[in-house]
Amino acid sequence: MLAGASVGLPIARSDVPIRLPEECACCAGIATHRVALAREGGVSSSVGYCDECAEHQASASTRVLSLALSSLLLALAGAAALPLVAPRLGLLGLISSVIAFSLLPFGLLCLPARPMSLPHSARGAAVRWSTSGRLWCAALSYAERVAQLNEAELTAEPLDERVSSPWLSAGPVLGVGAACLSFFVYHPLLRIINLGAVRIEVALDGQRLSAVDPTSNESPAAGALLRVPAGAHWLSVSSAVDGAALARVEVDFHSGAVHLFAFAADDTCFWLETTGYGEERLGEPSYVPLPSADHFWVLPGGIDTWFAPNPSARDPIAHSSGGLLTALRQAPCVDAPPEARSLRQ
Ligand SMILES: [Zn+2]
Ligand SMILES: [Zn+2]
Repeated sequence: MLAGASVGLPIARSDVPIRLPEECACCAGIATHRVALAREGGVSSSVGYCDECAEHQASASTRVLSLALSSLLLALAGAAALPLVAPRLGLLGLISSVIAFSLLPFGLLCLPARPMSLPHSARGAAVRWSTSGRLWCAALSYAERVAQLNEAELTAEPLDERVSSPWLSAGPVLGVGAACLSFFVYHPLLRIINLGAVRIEVALDGQRLSAVDPTSNESPAAGALLRVPAGAHWLSVSSAVDGAALARVEVDFHSGAVHLFAFAADDTCFWLETTGYGEERLGEPSYVPLPSADHFWVLPGGIDTWFAPNPSARDPIAHSSGGLLTALRQAPCVDAPPEARSLRQ
């Protein structure tokens, strides 16, 4: 806290400016610089500073900006690096760590302030508008002169030296946005379907991921959809009934992609079915089989429908708007369209 005094001044208008003394506002020396002091809703006044005081006044404001900048850089670096260093960190864990990173530079504000030597009366700006709308002056003699020049009243008012700035919130706020973005990029989607007879437990690198109920028919709601850390991992499947190990597959999750793992899919075929509408109407849907020995796929983008057919090209509503729709389909291989059957692995 700095001792000082505040002066209650009317809002300055261009025709009635606030009158400030000529001398340096900090040390009362000869002012060689004029620094503009903006007031909300009023015209700005110019405060005199000597060379030395103009320098500490300016470095105090750049200090706030450098704190804001270092907070932002730490937050962004944390958001970019943490999902790689700690891939199992959840979204909430990532957000809290990024906020903690962004707050680190503010620890500097808690360090004891360096001692102030005479004739200075402030370490930063010696004159400021306080939140209550009064002009706060660090030097009592300067405040008295301001009160005298403007015929205003004066009150002793200590003021917290720490300057707050809306820029200081940039690190934590943008950090939260960057953490969410980076979480979704580094944690792609995995859909697991269970075509076996019993409920299964799926684990990623030995840690439980999800339980998945069996589904026998093609269904858009089948299975579980989860986010998993990108990179190479092991998926292991065990029976939820007796815990018996059923399968173990090495997988590679790609950032930003969508993946499918189908358990017990030996007699099931998967394929992409593209239907054209309007001007792009095709004679027949086109089929791309999706063979996989492990029943694990990194799927191409642009799948419109999961485990359900596209609307019919003869549908009058679908007919009116042109374009292509792609559906991911599944069926027992004996029932799949011949073009969609993948070679049995
Ligand atoms: Zn000075
Ligand atoms: Zn000074």
